[in-house]
Amino acid sequence: AKPRQPPHILLIPFPAQGHIIPFLDFSHHLSLQNFSLTIVVTPSNLTLLSPLLSLSPSIQTLSLPFPSSPHLPPNVENSKDLPPSSFSLFIHALAGLYSPILSWIKSQTDNPVSAIVSDFFLGWTQPLAKEVGVPRIAFSSSAVFGTAVLHSLFRRLPQRLDSTDDLELISFAEIPGSPVFPFRELSFLYRSYREGDPVSEAVRQNFLWNFDSWGFASNTFKALEGAYLEHPLVDLGFRKIWTVGPLTPIDCGINRGGVMSGSASEVVTWLDRWDEKSVLYISFGSQAVLPRMQAMVLATALEKSGVHFVWAMRDSTILPEGFEERIADKGMIIKGWAPQVAILSHCAVGWFITHCGWNSVLEALTAGVTILTWPMAADQFVNARLLVESTRVAIPVWEGSSEVPQEEELAKVLKETVSLKGTEVQNRAKEMGREAAQAVREGGSSYQELEGLMQELWKLEVKQVN
Ligand code: UDP
Repeated sequence: AKPRQPPHILLIPFPAQGHIIPFLDFSHHLSLQNFSLTIVVTPSNLTLLSPLLSLSPSIQTLSLPFPSSPHLPPNVENSKDLPPSSFSLFIHALAGLYSPILSWIKSQTDNPVSAIVSDFFLGWTQPLAKEVGVPRIAFSSSAVFGTAVLHSLFRRLPQRLDSTDDLELISFAEIPGSPVFPFRELSFLYRSYREGDPVSEAVRQNFLWNFDSWGFASNTFKALEGAYLEHPLVDLGFRKIWTVGPLTPIDCGINRGGVMSGSASEVVTWLDRWDEKSVLYISFGSQAVLPRMQAMVLATALEKSGVHFVWAMRDSTILPEGFEERIADKGMIIKGWAPQVAILSHCAVGWFITHCGWNSVLEALTAGVTILTWPMAADQFVNARLLVESTRVAIPVWEGSSEVPQEEELAKVLKETVSLKGTEVQNRAKEMGREAAQAVREGGSSYQELEGLMQELWKLEVKQVN
């Protein structure tokens, strides 16, 4: 018999680094199963695709210009410099890709699209999939818990009071076991919602469309979020959740999409000098810049604490005068892009001050490193509470980007914490690392879910376009 033509899957990532990186890790798994794949990309993100395309040259790319918007700067795809207040506009503008993608799908008469896999920030791809009669899987680069909180909030919006106080505690009776949150910790996307405002309403609708998807594929694993898997299915009405993480980094995590400042071997050699689990790694991810006063206090506290550390920072971070020279024998500063996965995997690294971006969280857990939470924005506060209060694999150190910690106190906390060995939270973090490794091993829970998902996709009819 003639071999069956593989289903053609259209992949649509959300053009922000923290979303694209795990999306590409996921796409890599599909490419290993010989699906016919096309990936939509905006021009400035094309370079992020290189590691995947070099491994899987048969993947097609569909490069579409970022839709112009009168409210956004011309080079907005480079979203690093986008103020949080413009993020809703950014999400809203992307729906401008609906028509060009629709036209492209209709033109694919030789190899028609059988399914769409798109980021959960691109809810408008749901009506698009419906219009062309194919199923859509929503991909989430965040925690199931964080995703559920965001969707719950947007669903219950009519009850929201505009006068909600920043410190008012919001509870989630519909999510069993959920911590409570001060209003200010809930997603900026939700807090900036204004009833009747067209952008707000479009962003809300964008998330609500996800409920109609074929299912959610989430970069997480059962041992970490098992407690929160039922609510999205039972209460929110998602049809299916596939927990497929932690997805293995395509390039073994060597650069995770950035252009490295210095070589990985330099920092690895530096780390080789120190005892097991004695070094603190600090990074606030690919977007956040630590405000000047916070950076000053953190630097001084590090110096006073005497701990050994690697601090990966954005170029523009301002440090106290002479700091780098004074700490040269204790700490290493990486300005620009750090080889984060290599650092976390080094046996000398035991602790990680992180903003709790979900990729950083998974990388830390996988490495069995204990997290010190310092959430700044987006879903990070929700992730931090999941780690500290629900799964108890992390310790809070500070939060937010406005208030400044007290220098002496922070120095004391860092000194005492980094010297700890074998505490309950460290043991739990280590155990979670073992669970993460087990989940993605052949036969493990995430391995099986991913296999199941890919089998579902394989079963799809190769569609005829007429
Ligand atoms: N990253 C890196 N080097 C850096 C900064 C970040 O390799 O100097 C990687 C990090 O390993 C992670 C991703 O970039 O994979 C950041 O994603 P995360 O979800 O943690 O945070 P975001 O950048 O989206 O805020």
